[in-house]
Amino acid sequence: MSSDDAPRATDFIRSIVAADVAAGKNGGRVVTRFPPEPNGYLHIGHAKSICLNFGVAAAYDGGVCHLRFDDTNPITEEGEYVRSIQSDVRWLGFDWGDHLHYTSDYFDQLYAFAVRLIEKGAAYVCDLSSEEIAARRGTLTEPGTNSPYRERSVAENRDLFERMRAGEFENGERVLRAKINMASPNLTLRDPILYRVHKASHHRTDDRWCVYPMYDFAHCLSDSIEGITHSLCTLEFADHRALYDWILDEVGVDCHPPQIEFARLNLSHTVMSKRMLRALVEGGHVSGWDDPRMPTLSGMRRRGYPPGAIRRFCNEIGVAKRDNTIQLARLEASVRDELNRHAQRVMAVLRPLRVVIENYPDGQTEELEAVNNPEDAGMGTRMLPFSRVLYIERDDFLEDPPRKFFRLAPGREVRLRYAYFITCTDVVKDEAGEVIELRCRYDPATRGGEAPDGRKVKGTLHWVSAAHAIPAEVRLYETLFDREDPAEVEVGKDFTANLNPHSLETLSGGRVEPSLAGAAVGTRVQFERLGYFCVDPDSARGSLVFNRGVTLRDTWAKIVKKGAA
Ligand code: ATP
Ligand code: MG
Repeated sequence: MSSDDAPRATDFIRSIVAADVAAGKNGGRVVTRFPPEPNGYLHIGHAKSICLNFGVAAAYDGGVCHLRFDDTNPITEEGEYVRSIQSDVRWLGFDWGDHLHYTSDYFDQLYAFAVRLIEKGAAYVCDLSSEEIAARRGTLTEPGTNSPYRERSVAENRDLFERMRAGEFENGERVLRAKINMASPNLTLRDPILYRVHKASHHRTDDRWCVYPMYDFAHCLSDSIEGITHSLCTLEFADHRALYDWILDEVGVDCHPPQIEFARLNLSHTVMSKRMLRALVEGGHVSGWDDPRMPTLSGMRRRGYPPGAIRRFCNEIGVAKRDNTIQLARLEASVRDELNRHAQRVMAVLRPLRVVIENYPDGQTEELEAVNNPEDAGMGTRMLPFSRVLYIERDDFLEDPPRKFFRLAPGREVRLRYAYFITCTDVVKDEAGEVIELRCRYDPATRGGEAPDGRKVKGTLHWVSAAHAIPAEVRLYETLFDREDPAEVEVGKDFTANLNPHSLETLSGGRVEPSLAGAAVGTRVQFERLGYFCVDPDSARGSLVFNRGVTLRDTWAKIVKKGAA
């Protein structure tokens, strides 16, 4: 992890860990884990959990964080997700070392633990259907009803569980349940299901198993098997903590980690449930899990968000015990800040307007020096070709400008950045009256962009040389949804009704400076005056495609200024 990350955050979890280490608990060791279910791609919410778990471990000598695939559901999990999750965690800058684990590696042990519960009379095989179980569960105000199978003998339970494993029963026919308390005020303790029959092939264990453990059973025991010292999870698991503890106590394991809950990350203008993200992909609303508009890490990578900016964002928002929603603009501010310091500046014109410098010799080219990053002198300079025919941004010219428009207009003089002052002398239009070309004159004495007589111009424009620039497709993005909370929907509609129809704008006629020829996929640059862009994987040789990650305008800073943050 790079040293420019935010100063080490302090929060209630880090305080607990520090106190445990100081007290010599667990022999002073810190072992955390990040336990994704491989049923989708990682998103920015997961990044918060990754930064926390890996960050807490990294703060201690010998601290380790395991990457554990919680692969207990053969129906929804795929190898593709396992691969993408690993590459996303690495991309974020974290390393699990030798500790790549799979819950499926523990299936034998977990099965033995379940048998142990049966033998001590703490679990039973139940023949009720899932509907019947739900119907007897009771409510927050009413106790549940005991299953008629609750008092089966240990011998019968052992026999039936073995036969479940042997494949004698079909999906849903029988389950193994914990025998806890159907009247518990905590609904998760009302004889929760521990194992169910799933006759499905598993991506790692193939057809070896047809019974699979439930999350609550597998999770705490996997933590215990791995010697996790602090099991960090999001608030919705607070009610499950009692079950976490019950299972570990009843199984009688040596290692019993504490479960500690923190608030999940909610981000405005997007959704983070994997079910919804999958619906966006499968419904063709986006081009894939890595569509640059997605809140996935692969989408953000493609959009040009640097991993350091995501880490810094996660550190800055901190870890607390109460749910809240963070403005997307705050993440964008982190990205902008990081790119401002590290991204090379280049000239690019998104909607070109042809400019002919009438007093510049035809056929002549000169090289003008441009600064690569004014924030970082170490990034040096480069040469930009200048010639008689240029392109400027169509928006930078108005034939009849309003008062505060300081860019180019007939008779007006502006600076071309790193080049010369030019004055517009004439406007060429097509038959429809559309401006298709500007005729200008340049002042040779202003080479480099300053006038020796000290005269000033109000506007500085970006430009490229028409003969040297290379064509590029440019994709501009807005938020994927136009509501802050897209999951909030009118009756009868689903969340896709909140999609922003203008979230993608594709410009096909862009021109970029020649230094970008052959730029590698993933290269991040600032297009002067336009924002930060990243080379998209769709780029083939000679047809560059750029995604705009963020604009230069800092909406977050404005929100802060207005005191509305
Ligand atoms: P689903 O959307 O299907 O409920 P999930 O987002 O909970 O899935 P998991 O694979 O179970 O996905 O999550 C792995 C870890 O990431 C868990 O420890 C979970 O608590 C954490 N996590 C998931 N979403 C967030 C979030 N928005 N903020 C912080 N942590 C999160
Ligand atoms: Mg989950």
